[in-house]
Amino acid sequence: MSDCLFCKIVAGTIPAKVVYEDDDVIAFNDIRPAAPVHFLLIPKRHIESLLTTSMEDQALLGKMLALAPVIAREQGLGAGFKTAINTGLAGGQEVFHLHLHVLGTPQE
Ligand code: IMP
Repeated sequence: MSDCLFCKIVAGTIPAKVVYEDDDVIAFNDIRPAAPVHFLLIPKRHIESLLTTSMEDQALLGKMLALAPVIAREQGLGAGFKTAINTGLAGGQEVFHLHLHVLGTPQE
C-alpha cells in the first residue's frame, strides 16, 4: 500500500534500524522505544491488523511468533521480554500494518 508507513520501511523509502529481515518479514527498532530494547516485527505483505487475518495466514503468523524469541535473544533479551499486538482503533493500534511489539531490558 503506497500510503502505509511500514510498507515504506519495507520498500526502504523510509529509513529504519533493521534488526532482522527475510523474504516474509522484517524487524526494526521502534522510533519511540518504550524499553531499552523495543523492536517491531512485521510481515512484508501489507496486512492491516490481526482483524484482517484468516486461517490462511497461520504459517506467517506462526513464523512471526517463532522468530520473536530468536531476534529477542540476538538483541540481549535472552532472559525474557514482553510482546504486544495492538489491534484496531479500540485496541490502541496507531499504525495499520500488522506489527508485533517486542520489548525488554537486557540482563547482565
Ligand atoms: P501501535 O500503537 O501498536 O500501532 O504502535 C505503532 C508503533 O509504531 C509505535 O510504537 C510507534 O512508536 C512506532 N512507529 C511509528 N512510526 C515509526 C517509524 O517510522 N519507525 C519505527 N517505528 C515507528
